[in-house]
Amino acid sequence: MRILFVCSEADPFVKTGGLADVCGALPKALARRGHDVRVMLPRYRAIDRGKWGLRPILPEMKVDYAGHTITGEVLVGHLPGTEIPVYFIEQPHLYDRPGIYDGEHGAFGDNDLRFAFLCLAALWTLKGLDWRPDVIHTHDWQAALVPALLKHHPAIVAEPFYHGIGTVQTIHNIAYQGNFAPHIVENCGLPWSVYTSEGMEFYGRASLLKAGLTFSDFVTTVSRTYADEVRTPAFGGGLEGVLSARGERFLGIQNGIDAEVWNPEADKALAKNYTADRPEGKDACKTDLQEFCGLPKRNVPVVAMVSRLVEPKGFDLIKEILPDLLQREDMQAVLLGSGSPRFEKYFSDLARLMPKKFAAKVGYDEKMAHKIYAGADIFLVPSAFEPSGLTQLYAMRYGTVPVVRRTGGLADTVSHASVPEIEAGKSTGFVFNDFLPDALLWGINQALTLYRTDKPHWSRLRRNGMLKNFAWDISAAEYEALYQKTVAVATKA
Ligand code: ADP
Repeated sequence: MRILFVCSEADPFVKTGGLADVCGALPKALARRGHDVRVMLPRYRAIDRGKWGLRPILPEMKVDYAGHTITGEVLVGHLPGTEIPVYFIEQPHLYDRPGIYDGEHGAFGDNDLRFAFLCLAALWTLKGLDWRPDVIHTHDWQAALVPALLKHHPAIVAEPFYHGIGTVQTIHNIAYQGNFAPHIVENCGLPWSVYTSEGMEFYGRASLLKAGLTFSDFVTTVSRTYADEVRTPAFGGGLEGVLSARGERFLGIQNGIDAEVWNPEADKALAKNYTADRPEGKDACKTDLQEFCGLPKRNVPVVAMVSRLVEPKGFDLIKEILPDLLQREDMQAVLLGSGSPRFEKYFSDLARLMPKKFAAKVGYDEKMAHKIYAGADIFLVPSAFEPSGLTQLYAMRYGTVPVVRRTGGLADTVSHASVPEIEAGKSTGFVFNDFLPDALLWGINQALTLYRTDKPHWSRLRRNGMLKNFAWDISAAEYEALYQKTVAVATKA
């Protein structure tokens, strides 16, 4: 099958979160299954043309928007280590900026144009390349206009090249909906007939995500539990009705991990490599992490977090319990993250107050993230909601035991520890229910107690996580089956 991914980030070119991991790794797993997969994304300033060997492939792009012609060009490169083509939409006025989505004063004011252009340019490029995919897989709101354009843009509908292309829209996080002033509808050439409550109108705004949810052939999200959750008002962000109405056309497929990038046996960022059968190298990784963070090199439990520092990730809960916990327990904690200034300041200040026990790095640091997954003992993911969550998967793969809240992909991938279940090879971490500081504390205390009092079961628990197979291949097979259904639906339409 020929499959095109349209997305706003893909690892290793540009990444702000899990979306990039998926768009960098799933194409590889699909290509391994014999598909012709290609990826399309904007060429932001952060993506260096020279470093990635990008070369022009379509030099003169012309896309109509709001009565004007916007010009651009298309560059091509490859996902590193593969033959998978990645097309980059070059438009300096829109994408040559320091940030991806946000500038100094928050979200860019023209994000509607920036991503509508991505969608129009993606379809233009296919025709220009004369490469017609069977399925276009669009990710999050930034790419979600594509299904609407294919079904309703008059010039696109009139062009036989586009007929019968199937669409799959994936929700990586329903909190991000891309809601804009309605004029985007006509600016990108869509008829006002799409701007209804059954279409992309959403409380007086044009919702790009909703366009993807209504006009695509299938909708997916990144875990089964999150798929159930977003059908309810508590999680659906107002789109629960739209999703429920899609019935069996909406399903959850758990995200996997890139088992080559995230492999403690071969990871070059680690002081020492290790495996589930020979885990000794993990001790050297802990010492290395402590040295890297300026913490005393002591054999105490190290609790870690790697995350965007935003409220839904549970940092208010962590704030509430961490100072006391550090005071009381002979332990250390490490945090890597960036995001909300109030959390950045709080955790930086705490690290200055407790330099022997707590290290915080504000920023984005891929290498340090690898060192943390390897060097820590316990990994916290106390999210209010978590569509898939990847960090708990990386932690498990590196033998670091996760403490997570029972929601979304966390509920689906971490199994709470009990002695019989540990011995049966099933338990992989600690799971608490309520989004409350005490519940998180309960989870951490359970982990610390097992770590200190029952080394054999602790080691087994770690090993269970390392042996779980979260590689993409399993989920890629599910996507493949879905693409086949999509083709059947789209060609019949
Ligand atoms: P989300 O997409 O909501 O941010 P996920 O758990 O799905 O959450 O994915 C987060 C990804 O971003 C993981 O690959 C994680 O390692 C990475 N990450 C988050 N913050 C940082 C950071 N400050 N430095 C390096 N990697 C980070």
